[in-house]
Amino acid sequence: MSFPETRLRRLRKTVILRDMVRETVVSLDDLIMPLFVRPGKNVRNPISSMPGNFQLSVDLLVEECKTLVADGIRTVLLFGIPETKDEHGYVACVADGIVQQAIRAIKDEIDDIMVVADVCNCEYTTHGHCGTIVDGDVHNDLTLETLAKQSVSLAEAGADIIAPSDMMDGRVGRIREVLDENGFYNIPILSYSAKYASAFYGPFREAAESAPKFGNRSTYQMDPANSNEALREIEEDLIEGADIVMVKPALSYLDVIRRVKDTFNIPIAAYNVSGEFSMVKAAAANGWIDEDRIIKEILTSIKRAGADIIITYHAPQMAAILKKEKQ
Ligand SMILES: [Zn+2]
Repeated sequence: MSFPETRLRRLRKTVILRDMVRETVVSLDDLIMPLFVRPGKNVRNPISSMPGNFQLSVDLLVEECKTLVADGIRTVLLFGIPETKDEHGYVACVADGIVQQAIRAIKDEIDDIMVVADVCNCEYTTHGHCGTIVDGDVHNDLTLETLAKQSVSLAEAGADIIAPSDMMDGRVGRIREVLDENGFYNIPILSYSAKYASAFYGPFREAAESAPKFGNRSTYQMDPANSNEALREIEEDLIEGADIVMVKPALSYLDVIRRVKDTFNIPIAAYNVSGEFSMVKAAAANGWIDEDRIIKEILTSIKRAGADIIITYHAPQMAAILKKEKQ
């Protein structure tokens, strides 16, 4: 049958009907809020390129987490800005590292929260690259050892999920191995599997103070032009033991998310990154867009593309939007 018997507009006639046949619904359970922690007390440094986001000291970070949980956002992803940096990122591998302190404080004070710990070296190295530099480039196999140490240390601090974002080959396998050796066989690995060398990370580098001092990350992060390669990256990570895989960024890579969804039977996370967030904020500040509607549409499209989990700085505002809709 076709027109005039078939009329697709019939199912769009009323709010109730549209609500009933809606295929994709974003829930707060799908969302992870990224947060930035720095040393000190009572510190709340605004991140100018990411309005509404702050570098927080541990005490205020805990308060922020309490607010998020009260609003229905129950998972956070932590990034650290350390007191000092070194050539290899060793400052990220110690029990009193800034993220380790933050995890312990959160876990001490809040019961029903999940903490995902980002694992990488770029926030902790003097040169701002994601690993140990040999001959002007990040050395893959040497970097695996700092990533392994950092992962165990974060797990010891109480991290619920370990999330390596460095894009070294073999990191998932090495991290799985050391987590298991240390008794953390139940801690999942959320791997930044298909992480692209993207200009959309611009504002994050201000937030995490992690801009590379020379060159760029194109020898380890993926070429934005490739999607077959993304499937290879994910296949490798699955073989090495990844429990959840990630595509990052999200919006320019919705096709990659969909290909991953159609190819593998595994939970997929998508990172709605800083540049994607800041463009919405800038346009909204100029009165050019309806911010709430745009946020909901963006998050819905990421989920429709195939993401089960969305890491997004819009999480608190999405909670407010959904609350408003219920009233
Ligand atoms: Zn990094």
